[in-house]
Amino acid sequence: MQIVAGIEIHIQLQTKTKAFSASPIGFGGSPNERASAIDIGMPGTLPVVNKEMLSQAIMLGTWLNSKINALNTFARKHYFYPDLPKGYQITQDENPILTGGYLEYEVKGETKRCELHHAHLEEDAGKSVHGYKHGISGVDLNRAGQPLLEIVTEPCLNNIDEIIAFLKRMHSIVTYLGICDGNMQEGSFRCDVNVSIRKDEHAPLGTRVELKNMNSFKFIQKALEFEISRQTDLLEDGKKIVQETRQYNEKTGKTESMRDKETAQDYRYFKDPDIPAVWIDDAFIAEAVARLPESPTDRLEQYVSLGVPKTEATIIAYNKPMGDYLAYLIQQDLDPKLASNWLLGPVSEHANKEGLLFNALPISAKELAELLTALRDDIVSSKMAKEVFGFMWTEQKSAATIIEEKGLKQLTNEDEIAGIIMDIIQNNPSQVDAYRNGKDKLFGFFVGQAMKATKGQANPALLNKILKDKLNA
Ligand code: ADP
Ligand code: MG
Repeated sequence: MQIVAGIEIHIQLQTKTKAFSASPIGFGGSPNERASAIDIGMPGTLPVVNKEMLSQAIMLGTWLNSKINALNTFARKHYFYPDLPKGYQITQDENPILTGGYLEYEVKGETKRCELHHAHLEEDAGKSVHGYKHGISGVDLNRAGQPLLEIVTEPCLNNIDEIIAFLKRMHSIVTYLGICDGNMQEGSFRCDVNVSIRKDEHAPLGTRVELKNMNSFKFIQKALEFEISRQTDLLEDGKKIVQETRQYNEKTGKTESMRDKETAQDYRYFKDPDIPAVWIDDAFIAEAVARLPESPTDRLEQYVSLGVPKTEATIIAYNKPMGDYLAYLIQQDLDPKLASNWLLGPVSEHANKEGLLFNALPISAKELAELLTALRDDIVSSKMAKEVFGFMWTEQKSAATIIEEKGLKQLTNEDEIAGIIMDIIQNNPSQVDAYRNGKDKLFGFFVGQAMKATKGQANPALLNKILKDKLNA
């Protein structure tokens, strides 16, 4: 038996306004506050294609080695649903923006490739809100008209690990490029997974089932486990698979039939008479391409060559804003390994606690660089630096200000430390004797005393060195 899957991924593009109107895009808010007459298809209104939507699709297409099609047309796809009062969705049918391309991803250290069929632009529908008031269902059209890019793969994924790894890589790329916020709970990245089973790789493709609107990697995993075993059982019993759309029920852990799969004829596609064909020229493509960031694989290579361990380097390289922090810190001549330890350590811990992404931290790369420079120059110890960082985060002040205000400066004056140590040696003659007669463990006692006397502010390395010198004198 061989599992075959092809995926349709809907990513919500990060434009300011909707696909065909000037209404702002967003999430939440009062129902219908962002639904304009165009979004709901009122007679007499005319949609206008959003240029930024085209530009973001071209960025992704370039990244994925797709062909960017010059001729783009828009069609009406008809279906009746309460969240689609105009009765059709504007989408690309015959002339989508991207064709072909591929994405490489890793499974258990092996590089795999998933071929892409095409990607087309379309508008999102609204949302039915059940139990909105007194058990009544309502329709919220805020989402109507928000721009989506639907990426359709070839049926070339052959097991659950591949499907999840492919989706995670695609998710990291669209967020890396900044064309999608990647928020799966809010539906900014959602997919339909088509899955079928055949005897072996030489047999014709089996009948597929579409698992609709999956928006969590965990549920995709569970839904697929259930669905594959359901199909396997049916086939082993000599039964037929019905081509249909199913959805995953989180409560039962099972997939349930939603509807028979529509065919293209059911949608009665025709060219949208309100939207002229769009021709994309080379200059427009060049502008979009110029917006592409440095590739994560280049960043990964750079970090590793600078001594950052591969696991850490990978996490940072694929997180664009985190990589931007690291780039700045390296530029400030800070040690790349120290810098990445800080990004994945204290900075990530604070960010995770508050559920913040790296593009929304209260401390800028420049402010962090000032702190790490103070650490590098021994003005603060690493323990102090973490404390200073905590204050910088909550009080929104610079490292220098916190160090000054909280007196978190490290003591690095050798004579001063030596003086304190001589006092301790004089005041603890019996311990000094015991140490000198071989009780090495007492060293810790002296460190403790010295730290106490300096309120923990002595530079630890310097203190250890002077203490050894004096005790062994
Ligand atoms: P539709 O437009 O009706 O949803 P498509 O033929 O465009 O159907 O395919 C949608 C997705 O289903 C694609 O990602 C494709 O790779 C995948 N697919 C098509 N046939 C199969 C199959 N037999 N098994 C698994 N996936 C399939
Ligand atoms: Mg489909």
